[in-house]
Amino acid sequence: MDDYLPSVEVRVIDEEKGKGLFALHKFDPGDVIFEERPLVCAQFLWNQAYGYLACDYCMKPLETAEENVRRLTGIQDLQLPYPECCSTRKDEYVECSYCEVSYCSPDCRDQAWEQYHQVLCTASLLGNTNHPLDELQDAWREMHYPPETASIMLIARMIATVKQAKDKAGAAHLFSQFCHKIKSSSGDMAHRLLGRQFQAQVEHLRQLIIKGLQDEDLLQWFTADGFKSLIALVGTNGQGIGTSAFGVWIKNCDSLEISEEEQEKLNAFIHNLYEKIEKETGPYLNNEGSGLFPLQSACNHSCVPNAEATFPYNNFTLVMEAIKEILPGEEIIVCYLDESNRNRSRHSRIKLLRENYLFTCTCAKCESQRCDGDFTSDSEADVK
Ligand SMILES: [Zn+2]
Ligand SMILES: [Zn+2]
Ligand SMILES: [Zn+2]
Repeated sequence: MDDYLPSVEVRVIDEEKGKGLFALHKFDPGDVIFEERPLVCAQFLWNQAYGYLACDYCMKPLETAEENVRRLTGIQDLQLPYPECCSTRKDEYVECSYCEVSYCSPDCRDQAWEQYHQVLCTASLLGNTNHPLDELQDAWREMHYPPETASIMLIARMIATVKQAKDKAGAAHLFSQFCHKIKSSSGDMAHRLLGRQFQAQVEHLRQLIIKGLQDEDLLQWFTADGFKSLIALVGTNGQGIGTSAFGVWIKNCDSLEISEEEQEKLNAFIHNLYEKIEKETGPYLNNEGSGLFPLQSACNHSCVPNAEATFPYNNFTLVMEAIKEILPGEEIIVCYLDESNRNRSRHSRIKLLRENYLFTCTCAKCESQRCDGDFTSDSEADVK
């Protein structure tokens, strides 16, 4: 791969589809298409409330692999072998000098402070026990129970980023490039988080955002419609991010030079841990959050994608990887549905995509599975 030439290009496809991302040269399965950091990211609020510890800036795990597994299994004296496979470095951790927010390194603390944390630091209003941002997080948790797909803190961080920027108009413009339609182009569907059942809650969130973050130069974001467009923006563009100290430990164990017998013992031990975790905490293994990535969000959806977003550094850095051969000029397409929803019926996939991303999927798979009346049918038979 040539490092000096861009590997992809954003092009406008048409009014209906909007933008798309296109390959400028050939990629083989496993090739890195691009790598990018989010403009803003935030851990999900329930994930945080349940004790999943991550750097407030880059989402790197703050627990050691052993602490992570102890919490997930509920076994307090559990010991992990091969501690050298844990990559958590606690000696580098720091807190904000004013509030209790934690970071994996002084660098993350400084970057957060430079970008948005001066505005969002809840210690900045001393003596105020009911900080509007705390109220805001409570209100969001009330509205959006797990499985979580978005966080109101993405909106708070977007606003704070613009408030702190030297070039406010430039910063606001960066965010305006993300799709922020409230309704589909035909007007027949609105984003799930803007549905009738959330109307009062969305207005309450807007009042709290105004109370905590109102800005004269950003008035368009605080109007009723402007705020709805921000909710639609984080709902449709937020890319899930998952990090895990235990996951990294397992990955590092793969490269241990140990005997076959020890390897088998280790595999059985890990298998057993997974069973205990399943029993204690279910499917929520990772620190989870979402971020706004300019290039990734230019990628359109297909139920048969040719690329996939990965997080190999165990932080917020996204690496887009080819999973099929992609030829020059071909569109990079990803699947917006998470693993648990990817293999559901065409009917369920289309419903999820319409509610969350405001479009009706017409990818090759959906078209080939099309049969008369199945979209209007109420049966939710999830056959593959
Ligand atoms: Zn960090
Ligand atoms: Zn702080
Ligand atoms: Zn499809």
